[in-house]
Amino acid sequence: MPVSTPGFSPAPVPAPDGVTQEDWESFAWQMQNRVRNLEDLERWIEPSPEEAQAVGDLARRFRFVITPYYASLMDPKDPACPIRRQVVPSPQEAEDSAGLADPLDELLHSPVKNVIRVYPDRIAFCVNNECALYCRFCLRKRMVGEEGWSMQKRELELALDWIAETPEIRDVLLTGGDPLVFSDSRLDWLLTRLREIPHVELIRLGTRLPVTLPYRVTEELCRMLERHHPIWVNTHFNHPAEITAPAVEACRRLAQAGIPLGNQSVLMRGINDDVEIMKSLCEQLVRIRVRPYYCYQAQLLEGTGHFRVPIERGLEIFSAMRGRTSGFAIPRYVLDTPHGKVPLERSSLQGRDGEDVLVEAWNGETWREPNPPD
Ligand SMILES: *Cc1c(COP(=O)(O)O)cnc(C)c1O
Ligand code: SF4
Repeated sequence: MPVSTPGFSPAPVPAPDGVTQEDWESFAWQMQNRVRNLEDLERWIEPSPEEAQAVGDLARRFRFVITPYYASLMDPKDPACPIRRQVVPSPQEAEDSAGLADPLDELLHSPVKNVIRVYPDRIAFCVNNECALYCRFCLRKRMVGEEGWSMQKRELELALDWIAETPEIRDVLLTGGDPLVFSDSRLDWLLTRLREIPHVELIRLGTRLPVTLPYRVTEELCRMLERHHPIWVNTHFNHPAEITAPAVEACRRLAQAGIPLGNQSVLMRGINDDVEIMKSLCEQLVRIRVRPYYCYQAQLLEGTGHFRVPIERGLEIFSAMRGRTSGFAIPRYVLDTPHGKVPLERSSLQGRDGEDVLVEAWNGETWREPNPPD
């Protein structure tokens, strides 16, 4: 069913020459035909000499894989293209040697393999180590796509046993890698096992596939997911150019299955560190019923320094949105730390003056609010 919102026409993504529409829209075809080396990449773009060099040098250190769908969104001529910069290695990665492989001490907060617990009541459960493509800025760069982290069914069982034995856990976030890289039947098995644990009230999926391989979101997948409600999904759009017709359709199917959709983006230099771009991204997201949830401060991480933006700049962007767009189109700007997420926000409180508290409104006006003494 096409989405018909007046004045809103997300770009169609037609199959390229020589590929049938059916293959193009198939999850299996997309996974099998992923870009993995310079030769594959040259089918989509003209790599700059720097990019070509970086693909050769860095591919082994930080895995290089792109889905044909996402590759087709890249500007073939412009290395500064915000889609291209998210997935094509840059020589700057080699220069960014500062930073830690595991900045959040996740290994320290892991009671059982691939469970990360920083809060009493909820966990991140890394169910696999596979993504459809590998983002150059990824926090989990050290583990995604690496052998040895791969979690076999037996290991999933051990984590499920730990959750079953830990009654405080009421909210389980399935992440990875990407849980939607699993087949429907494997995911169904996992969700069924989680649903057998009475204290697990909520299951959420963190997945970038609606953005990087939207054809994964089939009607069959949605019928399976809705049998395990309440299911929440957080996806990961970073730029308005990612909101294409297939991505909109993937989100529509999930929303139609009664799944509340959120978005977690990462604030990145030259990609979305601009008020107009961030506002446009968030406004288009709410149009497709995806609620901007978090925007992350990019972490100090080996090979990703060139994406980082000063926190002051981030504060400026999100305060500039306040009052100028729907409240629910503004994500919470957060810093992830080993102690959990910390909201980054400029305070509107100016202080107390006798019986009053002074606050600053979005338009800069000061308001004096009578406030009872403590
Ligand atoms: C983000 C995160 C959660 C979920 O946090 P919310 O603020 O509830 O979305 C849970 N566990 C870990 C380890 C996380 O990083
Ligand atoms: S999809 Fe998510 S987990 Fe996978 S590489 Fe990209 S940011 Fe990392």
